[in-house]
Amino acid sequence: MYDLIIVGGGPAGSSAGRTAGRLGLRALLLEKEVFPREKPCGGALSARALASLDFLLPPALQAQALTGARVCYRGRKVEAHLSAPYAFLVSRSDFDHFLLTEAEKAGIEIHQGEKVLGLCETDGSISVRTPVGVYRGRCALIAEGAQGHLKGRARRRETRAEQGFAIVTEIPVTQPQAGIAEIHFGMSRWGYGWIFPHAGYLSVGVGGLLPAMPRIRERLQVFLRENGLPETSRCRGHVIPMGGIRRNLVNGRIILCGDAAGFADPLSGEGIAYAIRSGQLAAEAVHRALSERIEALEEYEAACERAFGGELRDALFLARLVHRFPAAFHRLFSSHPRVVAAYLDVVAGIRSYRSFLAWALPRMPAYLALREICRPTPAKKI
Ligand SMILES: Cc1cc2nc3c(=O)[nH]c(=O)nc-3n(C[C@H](O)[C@H](O)[C@H](O)COP(=O)(O)OP(=O)(O)OC[C@H]3O[C@@H](n4cnc5c(N)ncnc54)[C@H](O)[C@@H]3O)c2cc1C
Repeated sequence: MYDLIIVGGGPAGSSAGRTAGRLGLRALLLEKEVFPREKPCGGALSARALASLDFLLPPALQAQALTGARVCYRGRKVEAHLSAPYAFLVSRSDFDHFLLTEAEKAGIEIHQGEKVLGLCETDGSISVRTPVGVYRGRCALIAEGAQGHLKGRARRRETRAEQGFAIVTEIPVTQPQAGIAEIHFGMSRWGYGWIFPHAGYLSVGVGGLLPAMPRIRERLQVFLRENGLPETSRCRGHVIPMGGIRRNLVNGRIILCGDAAGFADPLSGEGIAYAIRSGQLAAEAVHRALSERIEALEEYEAACERAFGGELRDALFLARLVHRFPAAFHRLFSSHPRVVAAYLDVVAGIRSYRSFLAWALPRMPAYLALREICRPTPAKKI
């Protein structure tokens, strides 16, 4: 009997595993792939994400620091630079592998290449089924990412309108312009394209709201062509849940974290920071529940709310404004280096979305902002 069985070894599962091990829980982590595995991602690790790790990343993993950003929209280009890095570019396969190793160092058991087929709660414990056998745990943590189906044990799946979609490819280059991320608006009504200068290659991708991204592979090819880059069929992607929507995160002894819980920035698609933090909070909640009373598991939802719930809701508010008035906001974002720099502060975690909104909205035509504010969306739990 394990105290905790974790499904998935991405940033959410590994962070939960590391915290569980450090708290002395007997934990088993089941991961269907064998690491290092490929993971479609821009690889931008925000300074906020980095700060939530309780160990240092080896310098080689965070060698590419981003201090600048160039925003492009309809031929207009605006560039801003911060004095300190707001994000680091990492290889997701190396980064996730390192996180999993750190979890193992904390003393938990890890089975790679073992897919969880199903789980159920009976008689005060959870049975977790894999092709190898059935494991029993006092609690289970689902950290399967955006694509799995096990999260349905705790909450309903998102509708198409509540999801984003992003796709990415890597283009080898000899000398990328280090330190500057490029963001391109206008290639889709509700989305953006990115070019991130990793060491030896560019991460080039497009993403946006799922209903607004039909034929996304073709869009990526057009985006590559427009930027003088070679077209390629080697691209991968998947859905990204829209954070900021209230969801059930706990059902009995089952708890969700990371993408499985729906924790991703609805505007930028950033998810690693929330995966790490929610994984840590989930393991702490399990520790409390097992040492005090099982109902304490419910407090996990409140802990996530305190840590980043308000921030994700403010991001959703801004995302809905941007989706309603894309041209106005794309013009705003590409209007002045100060606007770009203010947004980079949000990515770095030194400015909140609320403070960004308070600063940026007065720079919008007033009636657009007012119309949206007067049309609040009910906070419904799903
Ligand atoms: C194209 C793209 C680009 C992105 N770029 C960025 C970016 O630059 N910065 C950023 O912060 N975020 C980015 N994101 C979002 C980010 O990748 C996710 O938010 C993040 O990976 C979530 O971490 P996670 O641990 O919850 O899930 P994942 O990283 O998806 O990990 C889930 C793990 O669970 C395993 N698993 C799944 N099902 C099972 C099962 N049944 N049994 C056992 N194991 C299972 C999977 O193999 C996987 O290893 C991007 C997303 C996409 C699609």
